[in-house]
Amino acid sequence: MAAEPSEVQQLARAFARHLEHLREFAGVHYVGAGPMPRSLVSPDERAEAAPAEAAPVQPEPLVAPTREPTASPVAPSTLPNPPPRQSTYSEPPPPDHRQSALHNQAEQWTATTKLAYLRERNVGDCQRCPLARTRTKIVFGVGNPDAALMFVGEAPGGDEDRIGEPFVGAAGKRLDQWLRTLGLDRQQVYIANVLKCRPPGNRDPHPQEIDRCSPFLHAQIRAIQPQVLVALGRFAGAALLGAAGRDASELKMYEMRGKLHEYLEPKSGLRVPVVVTYHPSYVLRRDQEAAAKAEPERGGAIKSEDEKVLADLRRALSLVQHT
Ligand code: URA
Repeated sequence: MAAEPSEVQQLARAFARHLEHLREFAGVHYVGAGPMPRSLVSPDERAEAAPAEAAPVQPEPLVAPTREPTASPVAPSTLPNPPPRQSTYSEPPPPDHRQSALHNQAEQWTATTKLAYLRERNVGDCQRCPLARTRTKIVFGVGNPDAALMFVGEAPGGDEDRIGEPFVGAAGKRLDQWLRTLGLDRQQVYIANVLKCRPPGNRDPHPQEIDRCSPFLHAQIRAIQPQVLVALGRFAGAALLGAAGRDASELKMYEMRGKLHEYLEPKSGLRVPVVVTYHPSYVLRRDQEAAAKAEPERGGAIKSEDEKVLADLRRALSLVQHT
């Protein structure tokens, strides 16, 4: 059995993670997608991601930080090649003017191009956390890159992992139903998750996974610049509101629903109103529980979860400015 990390080791890991974030958000690199340094992987995570195999310990790659463009993307064939990563450590290079030019150029790219770049160049075949070893497909996001309304879920489930698209299983059908009720469809909104890879057995995301993956979500929001964000469930709400300087682990669903919040994009300072509502899987579960208990028609004074969600979504839609 893996020994419990000492308090000092835990502190060292937290500090290393913090430094990683500082480097990312200071723009030293955009959203590096290399393997997560072993020092940041807890023994539990290693065991979970590779339960059967005694993974050979790879020497940790010493990679010099590279300067990558901030937001970006493009038809890959027209993209300038990013600088090759160095295989041995050297001092961080002085600011590279070609990179700054690329950075400035990236600011002019369309949201479609930025998302394509982010998917292909930054996420790539991401190995930043142990979920890389158990996923089938990375589930990046789907919908209209120019959407005014962006939905954020928790993490892919089994169907999403197989197909590579968010919300295609039972929860997705319920989400589609809500969209239809509001006169919308998937092509008019953008849908993404906090985690881009499925946690084994659909367990709750671990804080370290959210830490490693959320820069991609922030970058998606930076590219799309939606007018309103809808967080589906507690994890999405906490991930979006945690970015506004609050401790995400302390945010509870009942505190988040029913109020208007603001998301603060950590890198650009972009602010977007956030509506937090129930996750469709929770609503499905509540329906099943009600059916199993043969609860009498839930009407009258007691609102069903579906009604509550639709009220939340109408509120979100009312914040969209039609130009
Ligand atoms: N649940 C989520 O949070 N996201 C999905 O994509 C599917 C189910």
